[in-house]
Amino acid sequence: MLSDQELLRYSRQILLPQIDVDGQLRLKQSRALIVGLGGLGSPVALYLAAAGVGALHLADFDSVDLTNLQRQVLHDTPSVGQSKVDSALARLAALNPEVALRPLRGALDADSLAAAVAAVDLVLDCSDNFATREAVNAACVAAGKPLVSGAAIRLEGQLSVFDPRSEDSPCYHCLYGHGSEAELTCSEAGVVGPLVGLVGSLQALEALKLLAGFGEPLVGRLLLVDALTSRFRELRVRRDPQCPVCGARHGQ
Ligand SMILES: [Zn+2]
Repeated sequence: MLSDQELLRYSRQILLPQIDVDGQLRLKQSRALIVGLGGLGSPVALYLAAAGVGALHLADFDSVDLTNLQRQVLHDTPSVGQSKVDSALARLAALNPEVALRPLRGALDADSLAAAVAAVDLVLDCSDNFATREAVNAACVAAGKPLVSGAAIRLEGQLSVFDPRSEDSPCYHCLYGHGSEAELTCSEAGVVGPLVGLVGSLQALEALKLLAGFGEPLVGRLLLVDALTSRFRELRVRRDPQCPVCGARHGQ
């Protein structure tokens, strides 16, 4: 059930016929894992907490650095030096005390990552390195959990949704497994703040659609954002039947 306070807090989205009270209840009953509380994880965590996703599991091993604040708007100047998880807990609890917050401090190994993915309904990859992205993808495929994946570097952003519950859905490895410049990090290549804000906001939107059950998710499609020209492009992404990560899933 939703309290009067919750009906009021979420009234502007409950007004949408695509969400309504039923969709809001589905959000309240949902649990999402956010891997990485940086530039992408900031809008993701803020918007999902604000929207009333019932439980947010927050994973990050890093602490807040002054160079983060240009884009990681979840954190602020007094939180420099604090762990990102603790900084996020304080901010999100103040934003919406209705949301249950579960901290996951420290780096996730294969076992703890599998457990973290198994404990939620949906995963948002907001990390900044290829190894983590591959590990999160493998855990999501193994557990059959949808993965909302975003990336931004320099002036380019990418976004896609991988849903192992769907027969045709590719996984992250189908798309990126052959290697690319994914190893570049923002600390080396640079990135503009509103671009990660944009891609993270789109990740939050995709998560709300999947959890509340409305709209058409970005499955089998890769959205490319060019910040320099303000152009969006979309590529169709097919599942690789030979993919070592998800191929066996359909192999029988
Ligand atoms: Zn695959």
